[in-house]
Amino acid sequence: MRQKLVVGNWKMNGSRAANATLLNGILEGLQDAKAAAAVCVPAPYLHQCQDLLTGTALAWGGQDVSCQQPGAYTGEVCASMLQDFGCRYVIIGHSERRAYHGEANDLVARKVQSALDAGLTPIVCVGETLAQREAGQTMDVVGAQLDAVLAQVGPDAVHKLVVAYEPVWAIGTGKTATPAMAQEVHAALREKLRVCNAEAAENVLVLYGGSMKPDNAADLMAQPDIDGGLIGGAALKAADFLAIIRAAQ
Ligand code: PEP
Repeated sequence: MRQKLVVGNWKMNGSRAANATLLNGILEGLQDAKAAAAVCVPAPYLHQCQDLLTGTALAWGGQDVSCQQPGAYTGEVCASMLQDFGCRYVIIGHSERRAYHGEANDLVARKVQSALDAGLTPIVCVGETLAQREAGQTMDVVGAQLDAVLAQVGPDAVHKLVVAYEPVWAIGTGKTATPAMAQEVHAALREKLRVCNAEAAENVLVLYGGSMKPDNAADLMAQPDIDGGLIGGAALKAADFLAIIRAAQ
C-alpha cells in the first residue's frame, strides 16, 4: 500500500507575510492527516520554510533545479543548495518550464540526475497538450518524457522517483481529467516503470496534477494508480489544501 502524497506547487506566488499565514494555517490542520504533504516554494522562501517547518509533518522543496554543479551559472540554483535549505523534494520538468524555458526531455533527465545525486526526491512532471491529446499522442508524449528520465537514472534509481502526470490542458484552467482518463495514463506510466524495474515500480508514487480541488480530489485519488496530487491554485489557500490532503486516504 503506497502512502499518498499531496504537494503544493506555489509557482511564482508568495510574500513572507502571506507565506507565514498559509504555512501556519496548513500546520494547524495537518494533525491526523493520513497522507504525506509538502509545499514547493519559490527559492527565496526556502529559508522561511526551513525556519517554520523543521520538525513538522509538512515537508518542503524547490520548483526547479540546475543540472550543473556549483559554478558560473548566473541565476541558477543547484541541488546542493536546495539540500542545504532542508528540501526533501524538487519539482522537475513542470510544463511551465518546458513551455517558457524550453526545457526538453534530455535537460529534464539531467536535472533529475542532479537532484538524485544530492539526495533529493525529484517530482518528475509529464503531460500532454490539448493538441497532442486530440491527435491521440498522449501516451507517446508522456511515455517519451518518462523514458528520457529512466534512461538517464537507470533501474536502480526508479524507487527514488515521484512522477506527476499533469495534462497541460488541465493546469490552471479549471478543466480536470476525469478519474478514468487520468487512471488510464497513470497505469501506462506505471507499466513503463515496471519495464525498467518491476519491483520498484509498485512503490513509486504517481501524482495527478491539473485543477485538482477539494471537490474532485477524492474521486481522482480513489483510482488505483493515482497516489496523490500536485496542486497549484488550490495550494494557496490553507483550507483548500487541507481538504485535498484529507481527501487522500
Ligand atoms: C500545477 O501547476 O502543477 C498545477 C497542477 O496547477 P493547478 O492545480 O492550478 O491546475
